[in-house]
Amino acid sequence: MDYAAFHRRSLDERDAFWAEQARLIDWHVAPKRTLDYARPPFARWFVDGRTNLCHNAVDRWLNRDWGAHADRPALIYISTETGEERTYSFRALHAEVNRCAAMLLELGVGRGDRVLIYMPMIAEAAFAMLACARIGAIHSVVFGGFASHSLANRIEDAAPKVIVSADAGSRVGKVVPYKGLLDEAIRLSAHKPAKVLLVDRKLAAMPMTAGRDVRWDALAVRHEGAQVPCAWLESSEPSYILYTSGTTGRPKGVQRDTGGYAVALAASMKHIYCGNAGETYFSTSDIGWVVGHSYIIYGPLLAGMATIMYEGTPVRPDAGILWQIVEKHRVSVMFSAPTAIRVLKKQDPGYLTKYDLSSLKALWLAGEPLDEPTARWIADSLKRPIIDNYWQTETGWPILTYPMGIEDKPRKFGSPGHPMYGYDVRLLHEATGEEVAVGEKGVVAIVPPLPPGCMSTVWGDDRRFVETYFRSVPGREVYSTFDWGIRDADGCHFILGRTDDVINVAGHRLGTREIEESISSHPAIAEVAVVGVADQLKGQVPVGFAVVKDAAAVATLDGRMKLEGEVMKTVDGQLGAIARPHRVHFVSALPKTRSGKVLRRSIQAICEGRDPGDLTTIEDPAALTQLREAMAPA
Ligand code: AMP
Repeated sequence: MDYAAFHRRSLDERDAFWAEQARLIDWHVAPKRTLDYARPPFARWFVDGRTNLCHNAVDRWLNRDWGAHADRPALIYISTETGEERTYSFRALHAEVNRCAAMLLELGVGRGDRVLIYMPMIAEAAFAMLACARIGAIHSVVFGGFASHSLANRIEDAAPKVIVSADAGSRVGKVVPYKGLLDEAIRLSAHKPAKVLLVDRKLAAMPMTAGRDVRWDALAVRHEGAQVPCAWLESSEPSYILYTSGTTGRPKGVQRDTGGYAVALAASMKHIYCGNAGETYFSTSDIGWVVGHSYIIYGPLLAGMATIMYEGTPVRPDAGILWQIVEKHRVSVMFSAPTAIRVLKKQDPGYLTKYDLSSLKALWLAGEPLDEPTARWIADSLKRPIIDNYWQTETGWPILTYPMGIEDKPRKFGSPGHPMYGYDVRLLHEATGEEVAVGEKGVVAIVPPLPPGCMSTVWGDDRRFVETYFRSVPGREVYSTFDWGIRDADGCHFILGRTDDVINVAGHRLGTREIEESISSHPAIAEVAVVGVADQLKGQVPVGFAVVKDAAAVATLDGRMKLEGEVMKTVDGQLGAIARPHRVHFVSALPKTRSGKVLRRSIQAICEGRDPGDLTTIEDPAALTQLREAMAPA
């Protein structure tokens, strides 16, 4: 089919187009209207329709093929950290999810209540997410790599009735204790959960707080064989909250609806990922990120596919592990991030030819820019299409990619391709809001309404949703992605980086302000600026420049090293190791404009050896000299 016509129709005949896509899922009550856009920019999709994500992901598949599908794999849990591997058929997954739903009900969780899930990549995390969806509770998954301060912010904002967690995770063979961080986060938070449900993996100590903490295994035995009916939610009722970093220190709760999300994912499985019932999907992401929500848990299961939940890294026990999994489980659709591929590029290429990868249709990569050499290398090695897809936590599914299920358009290395159906993508001039010409750089914007599946609002803060996303391009009420982009004469887009202070480390989005706030909490630090600096492996890494209160503390190399170590420890303890700066340099002043604004882009340019741009407004040029010196090799 001609994709251009498909895309055009999705915008010109929006209602008819999405009404057709809505047939990809089961509705308990069919929608009365496709879109209610009476209160822009808030879009309500599939008005008055009633459905349930868990029903569509699990129950729906039990009767398929006269019941044969019930015994096909649904969830394949593989941990190279603990050596476990378990496969749950749709029937077994259904039983586990029902049981977990009964457990949550017993703990007092009802429709609309929040359940915070702070868990490693274990099967129970998937059960908990699906169980929430089943009873209409709103889950808020927090990435296990976040530490107590980040977690406390999220507990306070979402005010969960119950938190589901575990004793520990494991990374590269090292136990990562969760329970202590969780207890500390609850202590820091003004909101306290009524109950904490805990999986004991027996990896670390799990001290229990009487009256609050409940063991998963003890509660589970009491609900063996439970049957919990699905709550039929109105399409716009929230399914989940997922926090994401922005330009302020306070993360935003991206709120997603139910019906629009289900339809968007089901459509993407067909048109973009080409996944069919009975096949296997393997995403190497984590449930703590949007990819984990859309393409580990919901998307593949909505399509009746088996999904692999992988606790491990791409290089352990060796650099062939991902391909070994592909061969063993006949993976047809694989999703990963460019950083994982750059990691593999440094390993023995023999691993790429050692396994039978004939089941693989293509490899989809997202989360950060896919550089041309990496794309070319993996395409040559795998001899499979490599498909870049560009999207955000906010959108829930790709904004730009090559929709293989509709038309196998020619792909360009370095470009995530074309606007997806439903997205009216424009590249706009930052200052005038006018559309830029072919080959000119502009802000990637989407003319609302945003299509189904995109965020419905910021949790508890409609105003912030409008102000943050729809007011940044002068004179136009359009959604800003806060990314720079450029389009070539063939309509292929290229993403050139963020327009704001968000950085992307190995596909993980971090707000530099959050890191700055954490560093500033160290008693020796007076002021700090954090910027993202280009890194060959991770795309970007955070680098800090700090002014100390007492210069004597950093007068010697020993003093500097000691304080740098302490600052890093502070960030580790508050935000988690993923936010730890690569380096913290000590300077006596930060480059600022005369109005006191820190010149982050100039700092970043100097760190990357680029021209720092127009510096006529700088207050103290000596600050720049210092910065250059700090960056010079010792
Ligand atoms: P997140 O919300 O954490 O998924 O991060 C979204 C951001 O990651 C986007 O706004 C982009 O800056 C970046 N990003 C995601 N996918 C791509 C891609 N395929 N190419 C370039 N940048 C990407």
